[in-house]
Amino acid sequence: MIQGEATVVKNAGSHYLLSELPAWEVFPAVLRGKIRLKASEITNPIAVGDRVRYQTEEDGSSTITEILPRKNYVIRRSTNLSRQAHIIAANIDMAYLIVSLYFPQVKLPFLDRILVTCEVYGIPVTIVLSKTDLYRQEAGEQIEAFRKIYEGAGYRVIQTSVETGEGVADIREACRGGINLFSGESGVGKSSLIKALDPSLSPKIGSISTAHLQGRHTTSLYEMYPLQSGGYVIDSPGLRGFGLVDLEKEEIAKYFPEMLRVSAGCRFTPCTHTHEPGCAVKAAVEEGLIAQERYSSYLGMLEEDKKFR
Ligand code: GDP
Ligand code: ZN
Repeated sequence: MIQGEATVVKNAGSHYLLSELPAWEVFPAVLRGKIRLKASEITNPIAVGDRVRYQTEEDGSSTITEILPRKNYVIRRSTNLSRQAHIIAANIDMAYLIVSLYFPQVKLPFLDRILVTCEVYGIPVTIVLSKTDLYRQEAGEQIEAFRKIYEGAGYRVIQTSVETGEGVADIREACRGGINLFSGESGVGKSSLIKALDPSLSPKIGSISTAHLQGRHTTSLYEMYPLQSGGYVIDSPGLRGFGLVDLEKEEIAKYFPEMLRVSAGCRFTPCTHTHEPGCAVKAAVEEGLIAQERYSSYLGMLEEDKKFR
């Protein structure tokens, strides 16, 4: 009997596919008995990216015996109201959130909500501004304004175009060695970007549509692929559905990194950063150190929070 540790690269329904990364030698394994689900609202015990212990018998069959602790994970709820959630991927080194200023146009409050979710789950984010060849001429200033908002908040922003090749090598470089989740609304150019990173993935990418995401077997749709240049990609359609976390009102500002940084200077604790005198966050917004757009998204989240209580 051989024992080892490996990473889950695919949920194949009745079994899982594992590989001992960084080697890409995929083999099947089944889950032994029932592994207890800790969080009751989670419907699947194992997700792509999970690190597991396994053992292989004389006859060559392998069994997963233990799931190792996760450093982070992303979940998706099947509907907004659903209490039940699937873990769609675990142990993400970087999530690339792909957005475009046009065709389709990103809504900043929506992006900010996703960013908050990633902060809550401890997932590092790079924002990818895609398809820049389509609007660089007419909208150069908007591109700069967008970069200023998000770089100011502390996020890396990479501009890409698969037409001109801009940014593709930067992303390829950043992906080396890690597990990278690519996510974006339909039409932002996510599939095109992954194919540009590694043309050999072409037949495999883009097969999950957002329509598939309603089903019960959502988790088996997610799969990890090796990049020829190093590192791994998980293709995740749609950002909607993982923007949903329940946060207490007082907690929200903690997940805006630029607000968290200055909030120690607020006169009152807790401070909602709305009406309190001596609020360091409001002062930073007035001085232009925190983007008005980000602050507006924060206020929007506070308001929404009130609505549901
Ligand atoms: P996905 O739904 O996010 O996977 O988006 P796709 O990769 O399928 O791209 C959506 C549309 O945008 C397609 O018509 C692509 O040809 C086009 N597209 C994707 N990336 C670029 C780009 O960098 N520049 C231009 N001009 N078009 C792009
Ligand atoms: Zn404050």
